[in-house]
Amino acid sequence: MSALILSYRSLVLICILLYLRCILRYKFVFEIQARRNYATYNYTKLHNQIFSYKEMSSNIQVTRICQFCRGEFTARTTVTKYCSHRCASMAYKARHRGTKVETSNAETVQTLSAPVIELQTKDFLTVAEVCRLLNVSRWTLARAIKDERLKAVRLGKRIVIKRSDVDRLFN
Ligand SMILES: [Zn+2]
Repeated sequence: MSALILSYRSLVLICILLYLRCILRYKFVFEIQARRNYATYNYTKLHNQIFSYKEMSSNIQVTRICQFCRGEFTARTTVTKYCSHRCASMAYKARHRGTKVETSNAETVQTLSAPVIELQTKDFLTVAEVCRLLNVSRWTLARAIKDERLKAVRLGKRIVIKRSDVDRLFN
């Protein structure tokens, strides 16, 4: 009789153990499944975001005029300036050349005007210097001296003209 009770008790115990194991397993499986679902959900969400972004950027199609070759082209943004890499680099080169030419021209003007500025500070000038200062020919200056409109002093082989006399011409 006691052996029967023992076996009955052990049977109940085994049943309880199996039940617990079953619950634990179910919980475990459920948890794994939930995690997997969550991961899949996140992945899908991310994928959709990337996909929609890609679609968004590639869906914009704007017809624009190339600023270099003046040709029509389809751009993907509203601020694209050039139709191709070639046009972009050609435009850059042209722009660069433009600034170089400007710098060169500025240098030339400065070099040309430098002597004139220098002459304006001198008290006594030669014929050539007065010609350059007034931007007149040697003959015009010679006529002015001959007509005594401009005073000139001969010192040996040189003719010296006073700067203040040149200024007086315009008074
Ligand atoms: Zn172009």
